[in-house]
Amino acid sequence: MTHLPERLLSGYRNFMSGRYSSESERYERLAREGQKPQTMVIACCDSRAAPETIFDAGPGELFVVRNVANLVPPYAPDSEFHGTSAALEFAVQALKVKHIVVMGHGRCGGISAALGGLSEPLSPGDFIGKWMSLVAPAAEAISSANLLTAAERQTAMERVSVRNQVDNLRSFPIIKEGEEKGEVTLHGAWFDISKGELWVMDPESGDFERPAI
Ligand SMILES: [Zn+2]
Repeated sequence: MTHLPERLLSGYRNFMSGRYSSESERYERLAREGQKPQTMVIACCDSRAAPETIFDAGPGELFVVRNVANLVPPYAPDSEFHGTSAALEFAVQALKVKHIVVMGHGRCGGISAALGGLSEPLSPGDFIGKWMSLVAPAAEAISSANLLTAAERQTAMERVSVRNQVDNLRSFPIIKEGEEKGEVTLHGAWFDISKGELWVMDPESGDFERPAI
């Protein structure tokens, strides 16, 4: 007797009769040969911004790590538990991914919290407060931009944060070295949930533009 929610079981039934049966050879080959994804995506946990859905990715294509507000904690080889850093290390050293994409998104709850939008659940003992303190300097600067509306500050912060997370990637020696050798390319992106628009960060200017598709 299973206790999984019925929605998950019905979804799994659809997966088996649909995608799995049409791609079973691919799944079998991936099981036999292992995964060789070319791209790693660092995305938010937000249920509305799933990279596999947005990029229409099949099995084996994307190596994804998701955390609250798609953050990259700076390189810190200490005794703490670094889940995102472990995923980065595996992606670059073992899988040798060619691209790392940090993807932010509109209406991000984590970013909203960093800007002071959600004060209630953020007591000092909660995890999210400490986690979002990674972006505190940017959040402070943007919070004081009084000429902007709350929505403008939110979007600005989401994009500034993506830029800063891409910079944080370079604090990892293996990533910095891989980028210098031309083995790995770093990207920033931002997905607007309401319109489905994808914006891509220009590597030179750091500005976000709509890609030609
Ligand atoms: Zn988010």
